[in-house]
Formats: sequence, C-alpha cells, structure tokens
Amino acid sequence: MGKKKIATQKSDSRKPKKTLRPSWVPRDVVSNEEELCPDCFKVVGDKNRYTLVCLLGKSPNGMSVGQLTEHLTLTQPTVTHHLQVLSSVQAVESTKSGREHIYRLKRDAHCFEECHIPY
Ligand SMILES: [Zn+2]
Repeated sequence: MGKKKIATQKSDSRKPKKTLRPSWVPRDVVSNEEELCPDCFKVVGDKNRYTLVCLLGKSPNGMSVGQLTEHLTLTQPTVTHHLQVLSSVQAVESTKSGREHIYRLKRDAHCFEECHIPY
C-alpha cells in the first residue's frame, strides 16, 4: 500500500522539460523552487535581461530604452534586443510616448509569480 515514490532526480540522459534557475536569480525562500518554465527561463536566462526585468519591476510607470541604457553597461541596440526578447514572451509591453517607447513589465500576463522570480 501507499503511494509510489516518483523518481524525479534520475540521472538519465533525457533532458528535463523544465529549466534550472540561473545562479543570478535569487531563490524564493518559501518555495525553494529550482526550476523555471521555458518562457521564464528565456526572460531571466541572460543576466542582463534579468537586470532589465528588475529595473522595470521597480518602475511602475515604465522606462524608455534610453533610461534603461543609462542604468546598464550595455549599448542601446543591445538593450533594444533584450526588450524584443522580453516582448516575444509577453513579459513586457510598450507604449509610445512622443518619439520614445516606454516599456513596462507585465506582471499579470506572465507567470513570474508562479515561477517565483523576484524582481
Ligand atoms: Zn514561468
């Protein structure tokens, strides 16, 4: 009787569907979750991109590419590229304000909460 224990950590050669949390993403103390869904991994799988997410997370009114570039040691095209990746998984949304695009983190539209990504 009793439940069969599922062997989750078998070291076979098959790749797991979920991706491991990168070292620069602090682990949630409560969940101790180590895995991320592929979308979230795309978002935080690059350290600079994760920094971008954190910056946007602290700016409820959004930030322009220029403002983001000032906070990072990256060139504007690189920041734009990262924002495009974030947009591709619906992690950010942008609105046009004059000549500039203002980027905002889409907290509700994504599973940052479920995957316990602090930002
Ligand atoms: Zn996720």
